[in-house]
Amino acid sequence: MGTIGIIHSIETCGTVDGPGIRFVIFTKGCPLRCLYCHNPDCRHIEGGKSTSVDELILEIKKYQSYFKYSGGGVTVTGGEPLMQPEFVQEIFQRCRELEIHTALDTSGYVNLNVAKPVLEYTDLVLLDIKSFDPKIYKKVTNVSIEPTLNFARYLNEINKPTWIRFVLVPDLTDPVNNVTGLAEFIEDFNNVEKVEVLPFHKMGEYKWEQLGYDYQLKTTEPPSNELLEQTINIFKSHNLVVG
Ligand code: SF4
Repeated sequence: MGTIGIIHSIETCGTVDGPGIRFVIFTKGCPLRCLYCHNPDCRHIEGGKSTSVDELILEIKKYQSYFKYSGGGVTVTGGEPLMQPEFVQEIFQRCRELEIHTALDTSGYVNLNVAKPVLEYTDLVLLDIKSFDPKIYKKVTNVSIEPTLNFARYLNEINKPTWIRFVLVPDLTDPVNNVTGLAEFIEDFNNVEKVEVLPFHKMGEYKWEQLGYDYQLKTTEPPSNELLEQTINIFKSHNLVVG
């Protein structure tokens, strides 16, 4: 029946987590505490749904023609998928046998030795680097940036196709030196195919309230078009593709 994992939910026709039409699996459990998290209900592994890899593969197979037609595949996100490495590895291994493209959405806050076997079966990494300034990173996530930077360096070392994701939050992640630092860090990496600048939004705010968590960004607005453009231009000026 395959390895059992704890998931929050699945989305069968996702279009924002990797290329093409994707079968997206949201795992439960995350060691970060991002102030803007729109999936705070994925924070704890408790309360998730036990699901076997076999069950998931049966479902995934139904969408194979969509993947082929659109250049899509399977994405595992969360939460933090690398909190359940054997589960994710087995999903990806089975997808590879079926020639289905796999994407791993991660914060990179993980022991490299835990991640390595999963990466062997991962076609694309969506690496969320939530800031470059260590103080801002800590403020946003409540954890240290170092593991993520090591993870990014390793992806470059093994030449793993990677998209970098950066959430732009006014008055938090937007300082020019924070964005420039990130752009300079990744500009020489040959594996980075593009950068996605994701404008902050509050679509998850109601979940924080339901869960009784303190949402600290109540008064923060989404970035203006000018700020978004300015940020995108910083990445572009470092010869990075933004899309
Ligand atoms: S890494 Fe993702 S799931 Fe975890 S707290 Fe941050 S935004 Fe939420």
